[in-house]
Amino acid sequence: MRARWISLTILLLTLQCGEGPSQPRSRTPSSLEELHSSLLLIDAHNDLPSYTVRGVDVGKPRNEGHTDLPRLRQGGVDAVFFSAYVARGYVGKNQAAHRLLEMIDAIRTDIVERYPNDFVLALTADDIQRAHREGKIAALIGIEGGHAIEDSLRILRCAYALGARYMTLTHANTNNWADSSGDLDDPTVKHHGGLTPFGEEVVREMNRLGMIVDVSHVSDQTFWDVLRVSRAPVIASHSSCRAISHIARNLSDEMIRALAQKGGVICINFGCEFVSQASADASPYFNPKLAKQLRPGERPQVPRARLEDVVAHIERVVKVAGIEAVGIGSDFDGVECTPIGLDDVSKFPALTEALLARGYRRDQIAQIYGGNLLRVMRAVEAVARQLRSGR
Ligand SMILES: [Zn+2]
Repeated sequence: MRARWISLTILLLTLQCGEGPSQPRSRTPSSLEELHSSLLLIDAHNDLPSYTVRGVDVGKPRNEGHTDLPRLRQGGVDAVFFSAYVARGYVGKNQAAHRLLEMIDAIRTDIVERYPNDFVLALTADDIQRAHREGKIAALIGIEGGHAIEDSLRILRCAYALGARYMTLTHANTNNWADSSGDLDDPTVKHHGGLTPFGEEVVREMNRLGMIVDVSHVSDQTFWDVLRVSRAPVIASHSSCRAISHIARNLSDEMIRALAQKGGVICINFGCEFVSQASADASPYFNPKLAKQLRPGERPQVPRARLEDVVAHIERVVKVAGIEAVGIGSDFDGVECTPIGLDDVSKFPALTEALLARGYRRDQIAQIYGGNLLRVMRAVEAVARQLRSGR
């Protein structure tokens, strides 16, 4: 036991003192496990609530999907932004805000209240760190799809009061105040050319409340409008690099640099099509040309990406914008195809192993996994305090 402790200490010292990317080292599974579990890992986007809302029990291991409590523990996940996702169909039924409340409840009641020894609702960066010290998983709420607030700042404020700490301004659909990247080529959709004046008001109110503005899913024009309007750093909660997989859902190098300059973070999406061009090209959802060629009902097999593809996206952000600009936003249970080796939430230690093998130090991995997002949260909280005190 003592010998193991000493060897772990030596390992940690070596990692702390290492100078940037260097030689890969071999590691025993237990030392990797201990190193991984000591890191505060925040996943900025997980769609499990779309299952708990239908009655799935997060505490029971399940054969399908990517997330359950046993696998979160196995994967050493310490904090998760659970997605209060509102499908666009609820807009037509005039039930978008109704659905938003149901989704928030699917997080608060079905995840946090049901398993109080494992989850705790987190509202601030401090809450996340406290949960980590107490060995609990911090559950956070992120709204996905700005149509959920039904064009009402009052509903936005109610969602904040219920715990929502970011809002993805659009989903794949353009709403009444922000263009999405998902329907730009649809001539039946009325586009605004980015954010409308009310959209700008939404961003300003989010700044005042202390809710992070999330630019995943928005059009490029909306992205640039948000960067101009927001007083606080913004995030892309689940997007990857367009330079590697050229899809509208990913960010260009120029966008990543601008996001970083504002103090923001791009949280890498693990979905196969997000990280691999070959996967994106084979998917009718991401490749409109292919969609037109297919006969109705035809569903081509999408080749799976690999763990190494995810590492390549992390390294791309580090290269173009610095290590301060990158985070993790897996989109587990929101994407159908996950990379080989990063199949579900239990596989995060394999990502740690891959980053160590690429020469990243423990403190650098800690920054990627949680430090950067905590910094954004603190900055957003500080801006809100400032704006609310009228300065
Ligand atoms: Zn999404």
